[in-house]
Amino acid sequence: MPWLRRLPHSTMRMQMDWPWHSVRQRCKKARLAKPSERWLISEHPLPGAIRVFYSEATMRLSTYFSLAEMTVSGYAARHGISNIPGPIELDNLKHTAQQLDRVRALLGVPVIVSSGYRCPPVNTAIGGAKNSQHMTGQAVDFTAPSFGNPEAVAKSIADSHIPFDQLILEYGQWVHISFTTRHPRGEILTITRDGAVKGLPK
Ligand SMILES: [Zn+2]
Repeated sequence: MPWLRRLPHSTMRMQMDWPWHSVRQRCKKARLAKPSERWLISEHPLPGAIRVFYSEATMRLSTYFSLAEMTVSGYAARHGISNIPGPIELDNLKHTAQQLDRVRALLGVPVIVSSGYRCPPVNTAIGGAKNSQHMTGQAVDFTAPSFGNPEAVAKSIADSHIPFDQLILEYGQWVHISFTTRHPRGEILTITRDGAVKGLPK
């Protein structure tokens, strides 16, 4: 496969000659390369098409989090969808991972990401919000069972100085946290089957 170029470990190259927005549309069709190829390929080598090459999914985005952890998706795996961020989303995802490092440091125990980046087809399929920050690489759902239940985790973050955009306790089962490089809203919500309310349970 001549378009596959080996890159140094833990590096990434993006070759662009196509509008960025098409990356999102393309992720629908993308498929994971064979594991033996060591590469994740987001596009076929059509003339003029974007080619985004990532090194192994073990590429680290921050001290504690890898690209694989931040793009994990059971749905994508079951349906053969390559849940790979475009360059803009990847930049956001790096920032999110770096901020999540602060959460990891605060809690002092492993943070287990259940959903980070979601390409639009994955987000739609699993019923994510239309404007979900997961699609921009700015949000993560996680648990930290060694610390405590999700409510305890959310309360700890709410009491910290971590500059989250949104912190949401969802169904008592996991914590959704998002980050922005602009002005974080610091919004805290609890979502249950009855809807969303401000703040965390008393
Ligand atoms: Zn979420």
